[in-house]
Amino acid sequence: MDTSLKKYIRHIPDFPKQGILFYDITTLLKNKAAFKKAIDGLAKIAKGKKIDYVVSVESRGFIFGAALAYKLGAGFIPVRKKGKLPAETISADYALEYGTDSLYMHKDALKTSSRVLIVDDLLATGGTAAAVCSMARQLKSRIAGIIFLIELCGLKGREKLKDYPVYSLIQY
Ligand code: AMP
Repeated sequence: MDTSLKKYIRHIPDFPKQGILFYDITTLLKNKAAFKKAIDGLAKIAKGKKIDYVVSVESRGFIFGAALAYKLGAGFIPVRKKGKLPAETISADYALEYGTDSLYMHKDALKTSSRVLIVDDLLATGGTAAAVCSMARQLKSRIAGIIFLIELCGLKGREKLKDYPVYSLIQY
C-alpha cells in the first residue's frame, strides 16, 4: 500500500448522487510526481507477469491502463459503453455502486490464450471488473491479474473476483 499517494485523492461527498463518496483522481493526475508514482507503482505489481494485453474500462481506467500498457510493452484493449466501438462486439452486463449498464469489447480484441491484465482506477463492488473478466473469458484469454489504483475494501469487491489475483495500490 502506498499511503503517500492518498493525499492526492480528493473526496467529494454526494457525487454523482446523494450518499456516494466520490474518489476524485484528477487531483492525483495533475501532479506530475504523483501520477508518475502511481504508474510506477502499478507497473511494479505487474512486473514479471508477461502481459500481452492491458484491458481497461472507459474512461478513467484508460488513463492508467494506457500508461501501464506502454510501460509494460503490452497492447491496449479498450472496453467501452454501448455504441462506441465500431466493429463487431461482445458484451456483459454489470451493476455499479450507482446504477446498471452494459460494457462492450471488440470480438477480435484478444487472441486465445493471450495473457491479459485488467486495469481500472477504482474497485468498489467489483461488478465492472467482473463484467470485463466475463468478456475476457468469452474470448478465451488468460486473466493474469486485475489491478486497481484504489480499492474501497468495505464494499468487498474482491469477493466477486475471487477466481483471479487482485491487487490495489491504495486502500480505504
Ligand atoms: P464497481 O463496479 O462497483 O467496482 O465500480 C467501479 C467503477 O465505478 C470504477 O470504474 C470507478 O471509476 C467507478 N466508481 C465506483 N464507485 C466510485 C467512487 N466511490 N468514486 C469514484 N469512482 C467510483
